Amino acid sequence: MPARYLEISAKSIARPAGTVDPWFLGRFGLNLYRGCEHACAYCEGRAERYRVPGDFSTDIQVKTNAPEVLERELRGVREPGFVLLGGGVCDAYQPAEAVHRLARRALELVLARGLSVHVLTKSALVERDLDLLGAINAKGQAILSFSLNGTDERLRAQYEPGASPFAERLRLIRRAKELGLGTGVMAMPLLPGLSDQPAAVADLLRSVREAGADFVCLGGMTVRPGIHKRTYFAAIERHHPELVAGYQRLYAEHRSSGSPDARYSVRLEERCRAALATSGLPGRIPWRLFHGKLPLYAELGVLLEHRGFEQGERGWSGGRLTRAGMAIQLWAHQRLGRTRSHAAYREVESELVWLSRMGTLTESLGIEPALGGTVGEILEQVVATGVARPECSPFLGSEATSPPVSVKGVR
Ligand code: SF4
Repeated sequence: MPARYLEISAKSIARPAGTVDPWFLGRFGLNLYRGCEHACAYCEGRAERYRVPGDFSTDIQVKTNAPEVLERELRGVREPGFVLLGGGVCDAYQPAEAVHRLARRALELVLARGLSVHVLTKSALVERDLDLLGAINAKGQAILSFSLNGTDERLRAQYEPGASPFAERLRLIRRAKELGLGTGVMAMPLLPGLSDQPAAVADLLRSVREAGADFVCLGGMTVRPGIHKRTYFAAIERHHPELVAGYQRLYAEHRSSGSPDARYSVRLEERCRAALATSGLPGRIPWRLFHGKLPLYAELGVLLEHRGFEQGERGWSGGRLTRAGMAIQLWAHQRLGRTRSHAAYREVESELVWLSRMGTLTESLGIEPALGGTVGEILEQVVATGVARPECSPFLGSEATSPPVSVKGVR
């Protein structure tokens, strides 16, 4: 059935993230559309909790006033950070974008504000905007990631019928790499019994490495009870009926989070770690792609999760170091309250360094004392590099009138 575009007005566009996510780095998430023509059978955006009306794949709401609203919202942003264009309840580069060009307008605003961007898509339409991504990259950082969970085009057609072919996505990774953008792959969800098999994962990582991607994040699949589960199970029944019984066992607990049996998650994680080790690809966004592009406390929080991952902390949601990183980010948010001035966030950065050097960071932030050494060591590493953090204000952006803040300034 062809898609119907319903034009709507949105009150807000930039969805502030409580904390910067160590996998995606988004300080703000943007949903320019609601619903997605890519029609992935496993798409979580279908779940009732997201309240997308009508048929998720064909009734596409278009937020036509998004550029005006976003311009107003970004004007108030004072901290450096990444705008995440992707994920949520739409793909910003679905076919509707060829007509409405909201993603392109959003990138123009990101560029004007001097922010960084992480674009995550399954569509080759993003090729149209490589010029803008290059311009953003020249001032800040642009990362172009493709959501890509395999290389088997038959599976792609069955489970992601509206998305671009896998080969197209790999071609664009090469192209983006040539342009100097950060590039990566979000290999999720790996479909149980299909793209999660060792040979399939190894094949995917080989292709990603050959394409020159900077990183690949691997993740399993959640299937939330309700329409999300019904849609995915219907697709499995249609294309792979032999797997239905296994899926029923895997998701028998009907957890509201949609998580599968915990034993499967552990096995999959081990498999992914082994495959990553063989491939030599980083399993997280490399530091060089976000160094100095986040507030100090967020950069530290992200790096702590990455260190935890490197050290083999178990569980997709991480362990002790991840929790320490979250605690630091939450502490900073509490300190900032509703104040979002340059002075306020610099003060919080300074206080963080001060607490660490006084040896009272763990106590003040309620972090496990045993982690104090690691937290302090990473913090000093970030500070020592002295990378300039850009400011974002109505007076800065493309026409900066004052020098950017250096982290060394907090010494
Ligand atoms: S591309 Fe993303 S948002 Fe669109 S249907 Fe697929 S998973 Fe959902």
